[in-house]
Amino acid sequence: MGLFDLGVPVKDVRKTLKRRGSYRDYGVNSKTHIIIHHSLTKRNLAGSNAESYARYHVGLGWPGIGYHFVIEADGTIKYCHSLGVMSYHVGNHNRYCVGICLSGDFRYEEPTQAQKECLRRLHAYLTGALPNYKKTLGHCELSGYEWKQCPVFDYTATLKEKTKEPNPFDQFKPDELNKAPNGATFSRTLKYTNPMQYGKDVEAVQKIVGTKSDGYFGPKTKSRLINWQKKKGIKQSGEVGDYNWMRMFGKKEVQKPKKRKEYWRVLKDGKQIGYYDIDENARNVILEEAEKAMKKNQENTEFKIERELK
Ligand SMILES: [Zn+2]
Repeated sequence: MGLFDLGVPVKDVRKTLKRRGSYRDYGVNSKTHIIIHHSLTKRNLAGSNAESYARYHVGLGWPGIGYHFVIEADGTIKYCHSLGVMSYHVGNHNRYCVGICLSGDFRYEEPTQAQKECLRRLHAYLTGALPNYKKTLGHCELSGYEWKQCPVFDYTATLKEKTKEPNPFDQFKPDELNKAPNGATFSRTLKYTNPMQYGKDVEAVQKIVGTKSDGYFGPKTKSRLINWQKKKGIKQSGEVGDYNWMRMFGKKEVQKPKKRKEYWRVLKDGKQIGYYDIDENARNVILEEAEKAMKKNQENTEFKIERELK
């Protein structure tokens, strides 16, 4: 799974955020820890986003934003630095720490459900993407920062909560549905949620229902989908389950295992004298042959039937 296949919006802002020079990149192997922060800016403030934090940090004389990722209130993940970059967010620990900041002031508010969900997905991805990953900590758990009220919320409980995704298959089996032309497979019920679903599967559906294929399942995609469902005469659910996916991209002809046919091999003294399928009566052949043999006084002749499946 890549960073951009998290199923939720990830925006690469590495080249667009304000900066003043650049941090050094020591490569992904240099990172062993993931550090969780909050922004200390209330989430409803206009400046509670990566762009503002970048401006603020540059104003402090830093080369750019301190965090590698910012998760904003609506769940949007902003990808600010490549993983190996030694940006400033934890002083002496910067070299080995990847920083994730959730927008909000968690002394007074809680992270949104969207932020929690996106944090879980990002975190799960990062623990696999960092070859030397050891541990995740809150900012205040690093030595020298015990005084810091960051990130305040219970990030371990958040990470432990399971993402509840019900099985989206109720009418078809996973291998019965075709891929979309862009290679996306059906693996979840597509619908308008918070955080918005994001991915190639959404993009493929947007092409079909005739709206901008940006990969984000927003209200526009939902209304175009409902129109499409109306035209097709199917339930106007505004969601794409396995049946809708089948209607959009088709279904594979699943090959049933071929029934094997049964044959009889008739042997006389070890030599094959007949080969019949089960519909014919191999036994009659044996009886005939036995009779012939008896007439010729060859009572010791041995007849045998062998069964064979083909
Ligand atoms: Zn912090």
